[in-house]
Amino acid sequence: MRNYLVIVLFLTSAISGCFGDESSDEEARGIPGGLALACLQDDKFEKMNIHFLYEEGYEPVAMDLAKTRLQEVCDKPGGIKIMSEQIDFKIDSTWDADDVRDARWKHGGDAMDSNTLNWYFLFPSGTYTNADTLGVAVDASTIAIFKDSVEEAEGFLGRPSKEEVERAVTIHEAGHLLGLVNLVYQSPINHEDPNHKGHSNNEDSVMYWAIESTDIGNFITGSIPDEFDDDDKADLRGMADGSLECEDQLWS
Ligand SMILES: [Zn+2]
Repeated sequence: MRNYLVIVLFLTSAISGCFGDESSDEEARGIPGGLALACLQDDKFEKMNIHFLYEEGYEPVAMDLAKTRLQEVCDKPGGIKIMSEQIDFKIDSTWDADDVRDARWKHGGDAMDSNTLNWYFLFPSGTYTNADTLGVAVDASTIAIFKDSVEEAEGFLGRPSKEEVERAVTIHEAGHLLGLVNLVYQSPINHEDPNHKGHSNNEDSVMYWAIESTDIGNFITGSIPDEFDDDDKADLRGMADGSLECEDQLWS
């Protein structure tokens, strides 16, 4: 009798282990732009959550703006929700892309959650390996903004202010998750900067190449844009309505 029980238990655990492995199979992380259609269209994901994970003292200033900008271009009839959470990332010196990915997948959940798309915006303490970098997009659902470097980017007399810079960088990195510029499609409009792949040549676009660097104040005259320009929006519309073909989509 005891042997029988042992065998049954063993079989049961083997079976549940097998199913467990399958359901915990790592979700494909993709490249920035790999979940662009998942946001732009509503075919599978009717709702979206933007998760802001921030270190204590690093509260994001552009949560509502990010929601607004995504609402303007994405089709989410069930709504876009802001979810914010304070996290002790336990790294406060230098981050590389793997550190950002590791932190996001350690502290956050899957990007594709039945009918809900989940994107993660991390606001850690510390700087990127290249300390001139203000923000990065590291996979299809993950960006990070380095507020310590954003502060350095504030201009003399507070122009541009660090808040302006953070707003622009936040929307800029979200734009990369939407595939801008030419990350997962080829635009019929010539607006990608030839010397800065994946970026706009228009300084009035939030996708302008200088926006994610501490040099931002040196390259932009006037106010810093926090909106996609008409060319960016035309690309997003083309992707959404299928007239622009998209590659590398995790779901489509
Ligand atoms: Zn960029």
